[in-house]
Amino acid sequence: MRFCVLASGSRGNATYIESGKTRILIDAGMSGKELQRRLAVIEVDIAAIDAIMVTHEHNDHIHGVGVLSRRVGIPVFANAATFAAAARTVHRLSAYNEFETGVSFQFHGLEIHPFTISHDSADPVGFRISNGTHSLGYCTDTGRVSQLIRQRLASCQALVLESNHDIEMLQKGTYPPYLKQRIRSSQGHLDNGLASAFLKELLHEDLQHVVLAHLSEENNRPEIAYRLAVAALESNPNVKGRGLRVSVACQERVGELIHLSCK
Ligand SMILES: [Zn+2]
Ligand SMILES: [Zn+2]
Repeated sequence: MRFCVLASGSRGNATYIESGKTRILIDAGMSGKELQRRLAVIEVDIAAIDAIMVTHEHNDHIHGVGVLSRRVGIPVFANAATFAAAARTVHRLSAYNEFETGVSFQFHGLEIHPFTISHDSADPVGFRISNGTHSLGYCTDTGRVSQLIRQRLASCQALVLESNHDIEMLQKGTYPPYLKQRIRSSQGHLDNGLASAFLKELLHEDLQHVVLAHLSEENNRPEIAYRLAVAALESNPNVKGRGLRVSVACQERVGELIHLSCK
């Protein structure tokens, strides 16, 4: 399995996942043209994408979904509530498939398991995506870590986890009170402290790569999120020498194409 966070943050999200001949995107929150450009950086043709799996209807996750579906004919997968809430933005789709939150399904050799997260949208989900050898856990846009999220992200070889803001930067920052409140709420976004503590919990022998995602440009710094995550992981003495890597996804640049290895 290979994957790449193409863009991450409140101005647009998309992640590319490839296994065998199957190529999918989680979210398409930027223009079709920009997504095409970003895929070209990792030498993937937009026409080769088999499906877009949608987490929730906020614009930074669905902005390009409609146009890509109509222009390139990419099928779109989401739950019913997200489709309903997204209808005004995405308009007509060339093909769409409803999944049920909490019920895993097969897609071209992948097992896709959408699970409930805690966010202020209709029926937001994270995904656990497995190909029989590797699993990738994807969880951004959640205000808290539930028992269910813990279960779904356990024992994944790769994790894309939100590390949205530094609480102090948010508190001292220029956002209006209602927005600060929204971000900090249990249906908002995960802060660096919760994300790093969660990573420490999730650490296991087979964890190969962690990507910190959906960082706020206003209320966070990549080096702060990275330092906290690494410190939390290293506080477990068993982590050393395992080759676990941590990287930080960003808004402006395409991330590294990460290849999960077989042991
Ligand atoms: Zn978002
Ligand atoms: Zn959102």
